[in-house]
Amino acid sequence: MTQHVAVLGATGSIGDSTLALLAAHPERFSVYALSGHSRLDKLFALCQQFQPKCVVVPVQQVDTFAERIKAANLSIEVLGGEQGLVAVANDTQVDTVVAAIVGAAGLASTLAAAQAGKRILLANKEALVMAGSLMMQAVRDNDAILLPLDSEHNAIYQCLPAAVQLDNQQIHQKTHGVQRLWLTASGGPFLHKTYEDMQKASLAEAVKHPNWSMGQKISIDSATMMNKGLELIEACHLFDLPESSIHVVIHPQSIVHSLVEYCDGSFLAQMGSPDMKTPIAHALSYPERINSGVASLSLYDLADLQFLAPDLTKFSCLKLAREAMKTGVLATITLNAANEVAVQAFIEAKVKLTDIALINERSLDKIASNSGFGNSSINSLEDIMAMDAIARQFAANEVLLCQQ
Ligand code: NAD
Ligand code: MG
Repeated sequence: MTQHVAVLGATGSIGDSTLALLAAHPERFSVYALSGHSRLDKLFALCQQFQPKCVVVPVQQVDTFAERIKAANLSIEVLGGEQGLVAVANDTQVDTVVAAIVGAAGLASTLAAAQAGKRILLANKEALVMAGSLMMQAVRDNDAILLPLDSEHNAIYQCLPAAVQLDNQQIHQKTHGVQRLWLTASGGPFLHKTYEDMQKASLAEAVKHPNWSMGQKISIDSATMMNKGLELIEACHLFDLPESSIHVVIHPQSIVHSLVEYCDGSFLAQMGSPDMKTPIAHALSYPERINSGVASLSLYDLADLQFLAPDLTKFSCLKLAREAMKTGVLATITLNAANEVAVQAFIEAKVKLTDIALINERSLDKIASNSGFGNSSINSLEDIMAMDAIARQFAANEVLLCQQ
């Protein structure tokens, strides 16, 4: 039966790879809905190519976009904003939701997809960083299926026993023997550079990832290694483990995408060319396999695979993420929000690359020193968004202080 797929964040890097796979396998998949936020000419071209049933654009663009759709004789319903994204996630015709919006903007629709019991292909790691417990509970309560697209988490998923794939809480049953998880990290463009080099880094240098081609925010997160910090928190929720059971190892070649260590000494790893089409193809077709079109690994050329310990002084964001996970949901919401504000300030040349970690740390300190906040008061999407707004204010103040 054809899977009806909604691609939320269709105009981005994950959107590109996903749509290439959907186009290559028309017998399996049909594109039911698309969404985009800024590159609306690109979104319009995708509408012409895939002719989905509906498309979501920012609220203020709905009328203009609907006129364009009509003028092109297309029959596509145009929805607006977060409400539109949530409506698509809830649509009974949709089987699979690809959550590929970047940042907190993707949370409401990803959570709605979980509540509607969909098959969710999760790229939007920020949703789990902000709302991991709520998301995983919604997945369990509504029999949703959550398949990670993040290459590391997808690799771990593939290396876990089938019973754990189906129910992540089974990881605690001694019979499965999972000892710890190893998340690999490329180390980004500043792995072999000094902290002073990072301080002087331009936007172009920061987004120039050595192995992966990705959107701007995740590329900057990779340069500060905040990305690995967010992924650590993502892994805790996806695999129901404390942060102490998840280790990070620098692997500059990005060939081993992550590993599961078992109690008998076995390390199971998933390898492949660094191309997001592999994890996306895996999740689209799971438990079957489809051709992704990704170049085969040239094993004879892989004489030098390295595994190194991360430098937590240069990449303090990684340390902050571990601490935030230990502290609780208020801290993880704050870290995510502060990081989004700080990354945007760096893009706008208001702060230095190294200020991102400072802004994140000082925003976390504000929560710690304010007894008015408590982890138990976060029980709903509304609570999370309220805390997110407070944290963004903290971070915006810290941006101003950095500029002085
Ligand atoms: P991108 O910047 O290329 O694309 C982001 C998408 O989100 C676009 O379609 C954009 O229109 C949409 N968007 C942005 N702001 C929005 C808003 N306010 N409301 C609605 N839509 C909005 O980003 P990307 O690299 O494709 O990453 C998407 C997500 O996938 C991120 O969470 C990222 O961490 C994760 N991810 C990406 C990669 C990768 O290789 N690109 C790998 C692993 C995980
Ligand atoms: Mg990743």
